[in-house]
Amino acid sequence: MAFEFDFNETFKWCALYLSKGLRIVRLHGIKPDGRCTCGDAECRVGGSKQKSCGKHPVGLEWGDRYARSEDDILEWDDGVPFNVGVLLGEEGGVIDNEDDSPEATAFRESLGLNELITPSWMSGKSTHQLTRWHDSLSDCGGVQKPGGLECRIGAGGRQIQSVLPPSWHNTGVQYKWRPDLSIDDIDIADTPKVLLVQISNAAAAGSSSGGGSGIKYQGPLVFREVHDGEGRHDALLMWAWNKIVNDRDPLSPHRRAVLTQEIRDANEKYIKPPKSASEALQIINSCFEHFRKKQEKGWRVSPSDMTEEAVKAEAAKLEEEVNPEDAVAVVGLEAHGLEPYQAGEVRGYRVGTWRIEMIKGDPPEIVLVVPQWRRTPCGGRVNMTLDTFRSAAKVASAVFNATHRVILDGDSKKWVSVWKGVDASKKTGGASIPGIMEQLMARKSADDDIEVGTASKRYAELAGYLLKSFRRATKAKDEEKPEPNDSGRPCWVTPDELWFQWGKVWEEISSAHDVAVGERNKIRNKLLEIMHAKDLVHKRHRFPSGRLEYIVFTREWVTALESLASGEDGMTLYKGEIDLDFPKTENHSPSTVHRIEVVEA
Ligand SMILES: [Zn+2]
Repeated sequence: MAFEFDFNETFKWCALYLSKGLRIVRLHGIKPDGRCTCGDAECRVGGSKQKSCGKHPVGLEWGDRYARSEDDILEWDDGVPFNVGVLLGEEGGVIDNEDDSPEATAFRESLGLNELITPSWMSGKSTHQLTRWHDSLSDCGGVQKPGGLECRIGAGGRQIQSVLPPSWHNTGVQYKWRPDLSIDDIDIADTPKVLLVQISNAAAAGSSSGGGSGIKYQGPLVFREVHDGEGRHDALLMWAWNKIVNDRDPLSPHRRAVLTQEIRDANEKYIKPPKSASEALQIINSCFEHFRKKQEKGWRVSPSDMTEEAVKAEAAKLEEEVNPEDAVAVVGLEAHGLEPYQAGEVRGYRVGTWRIEMIKGDPPEIVLVVPQWRRTPCGGRVNMTLDTFRSAAKVASAVFNATHRVILDGDSKKWVSVWKGVDASKKTGGASIPGIMEQLMARKSADDDIEVGTASKRYAELAGYLLKSFRRATKAKDEEKPEPNDSGRPCWVTPDELWFQWGKVWEEISSAHDVAVGERNKIRNKLLEIMHAKDLVHKRHRFPSGRLEYIVFTREWVTALESLASGEDGMTLYKGEIDLDFPKTENHSPSTVHRIEVVEA
């Protein structure tokens, strides 16, 4: 469901971003009914400020209020949905470039940037690339658009951010990392020199910096190749509207037929792979319909409607009108991301964008991941058993059940040969055609495997680390006026209250053990599950130097942790080591303070 806010999911990503050194800021979120949490009545889906709905930061001077730690992000868990953004510029250390038009996509390709291995994410319409800040950008202002490519720089002390996954876009699409270029496993690349030069030139020429200074000539839209994953749908929509709005009498039957043919030709020529005939027609017809409706309301085309910017804006509006769900209901396997090729007289398919993940549980499960189905109820992930995976017919029905609309076996005989492959024969030119099933297995990366069977053992390990850290907890020095450790390390402030900072404790654990960022949150969720709690207990303490926030564990929480540490199979891994009696160490004793924290007076 659109606009479904999941704090744990958001936290997980934010923690990862923090570990990559990004500055994460809280943005307004979108409520399930489509309203922005800023409260502006027009800032909502369908409102006059829809464009900013869910995209702007909470409060003023937000550039300084980025999250410093996981604790800061935990504090955002106040029941109000939110989106997240990354601070750009010299301070943020990164910049973003986005192709939100076919020209921008073509321009990016012409620079070879489409080959760049750097974290890249999709906002439904376009792809963003995150690259490192470079000092040569310091005079380039907030935003530059060389070749139409929107480069968000944030130079010159401007507060500029870009919305990151898993935020929701106001079109009902969730921002997502490209599966092959997720920030999970890809390092942020330096901004290529070609792009630095383009940005500097654009800045020097004083071209568009979001300031809207004066009128400038907008050249005609040049249609170039738009590839899968680069917004084929939107490119065609924009091209169709561009053609229609530039025609003197597009609604006359003769002109409409000519325009329709021209747009379909462009689809065949420039969209790779082309949109299916029915989908292309649907896009074209929705543009004509949009044009007709506008005319009925008294609107007449003026030169200002023909500028690239106006076309882009109108196409964006149109996109919101076209039900994105309809766009998925297409026929032809190419439309679902498979790549056709010819083998003799037979058509074979390569896996294209498809891949699988294996859940190594008992029994094992397979997840078929297809980006083209992202907008369906399954979000592009179809779970199936191994038994299902082995059967073409069962896969087709699992896919239909998960997506509610994708029918792979409309021609069941053809689907069986696509899924299972075809033996070599004269017809296939003497070569065998491997099935999608086989190709997916061959392509499967072990990194994508999800180890379920070992999960409980891993929880036991993590819980054991935490318990070990608790074993070193101090106790309040002054029983009359008990205080937690200002270092964030665990302290029994009262006999039943263990105070500690979540981030601090994990930081210390991580210095001795390998702990993936997401794992802290996993153990947190596991604890919440055992305790039937919605959140950990947060409390604050005021020190002369300021307030600090802590997690407070009662004996029950510690017991829950112990049960986790003991492992699912009842095998005690760490329990025996833990002495939960009051520790002998006094609070703030030198032995618990690292030298680095000693502040000279
Ligand atoms: Zn708003």
